[in-house]
Amino acid sequence: MEYVIQPAPVPSLPVEGTNARFPVARIFCVGRNYADHAREMGHDPTREPPFFFMKPGTAVVTDGTFPYPAQTKDVHHEMELVVAIGKGGANIPEASALEHVYGYGVGLDMTRRDLQGEAKKMGRPWDTGKAFDASAPCSALVPAAKIGHPAKGAIVLEVNGHVKQKGDLADLIWNIPEQIAFLSTLFTLMPGDLIFTGTPAGVGPVVKGDTMKGWVDGVASITVKVV
Ligand code: MN
Repeated sequence: MEYVIQPAPVPSLPVEGTNARFPVARIFCVGRNYADHAREMGHDPTREPPFFFMKPGTAVVTDGTFPYPAQTKDVHHEMELVVAIGKGGANIPEASALEHVYGYGVGLDMTRRDLQGEAKKMGRPWDTGKAFDASAPCSALVPAAKIGHPAKGAIVLEVNGHVKQKGDLADLIWNIPEQIAFLSTLFTLMPGDLIFTGTPAGVGPVVKGDTMKGWVDGVASITVKVV
């Protein structure tokens, strides 16, 4: 294949235990997937169908930094379990959904909350609030072949050593097979797609100089400095 311009680099994540990397396609994010976070955002955490928004694959950063973004005075952390899709498909049944997972990691769904709030009020898309450059700091992935498929375990985020977010994967309103099954009715999933699975309560702002440290027990951890 000959291109008329140099193609942009393929975004990718490191994989524990190998020098090969996981190429990232799209990033799907689930909204309001922990009841306590739905409540803190002013919503009723009933089991209404999950909803999704996207970030471009190029939003991933893996060097341990998060550049404070432009055009905001209120950028928030959202600590999440990340599912990495290894095998694509449409209309994937719940029962075989986990066969499509390559592995797991953790990530931060960084959010320009002021721009997201304005978009919500105006009935506009969330892209400027959610899908900006470097809005998805991610850990290395751990293959499911090594750790299996986590269904419970603490999910925690500290800022400068103080716990800000704390939950448990067992509290997900929509679990991982349900998310994959539902998402694959709306989009044909591709190898390389990531799913950010939602955040527990305690989201809040960070400023330049802060250090965010988050983890999911038995999966992975991430440390990111706001620069
Ligand atoms: Mn989120």
